[in-house]
Amino acid sequence: MRFDDQRKRMVKHQIAARGISSKRILEVFLKVPRHQFVPLTLSHLAYNDCPLSIGQGQTISQPYIVALMMDLIDIQPTDRVLEIGTGSGYQTALIAEIAKEVYTVERISGLLRHAENLLNNMGYRNVYYKIGDGTKGWEYGSPTCKEFEKIIVSAAAPEIPESLISQLAVDGLMIIPAGNRFYQELIVIEKKEDNIIHTNHGGCAFVPLIGEEGWQE
Ligand code: SAM
Repeated sequence: MRFDDQRKRMVKHQIAARGISSKRILEVFLKVPRHQFVPLTLSHLAYNDCPLSIGQGQTISQPYIVALMMDLIDIQPTDRVLEIGTGSGYQTALIAEIAKEVYTVERISGLLRHAENLLNNMGYRNVYYKIGDGTKGWEYGSPTCKEFEKIIVSAAAPEIPESLISQLAVDGLMIIPAGNRFYQELIVIEKKEDNIIHTNHGGCAFVPLIGEEGWQE
């Protein structure tokens, strides 16, 4: 089957059928070619209902979990989104299709450079890249940005990094898998003027978030 047709099936059976109804989200999953973000040897598996290896011990997440995370933080065209864990750049592209700007941080330079080249070649001009410890957020990133309407963390944290909470705008939303190294809960954090609201959206399993406010290597 052609990749376009595989993508349509993925959206229908893996994403819409599980309750994601946002037109915006379904449209971007139909548009972004996931097979270009996985190693050539795995492109025949690109539209399967699972994460895949992207090298360096890392993975591109299962399509449904990416859709769910994007849906839960309700990304808007006016949002500046901080993404921690660029990986292949697939989720970066999906977010860049909707948001005003994406600021993405990856600790493995080879992955970041590969994603940056791919996204540049695909024409994404609203993405800023940083190699470093994303548990510290966009600290010392260029261009300077101190506050984000949305933050999406694609690796598993032992606790919610304080630096990320401080870089979330008031009324902003952050989503992060938090738990142990093998099992986490998907937590949405809503920052209010004088308090922080946590809601739990169920179990998941991500690769570890490694850094000063995450796991030690
Ligand atoms: N969303 C990505 C995609 O679409 O391909 C997949 C992300 S993968 C599940 C998690 C990524 O988080 C890995 O590439 C890993 O190197 C990165 N990571 C782990 N700890 C990090 C940290 N402290 N800062 C930035 N990236 C980190």
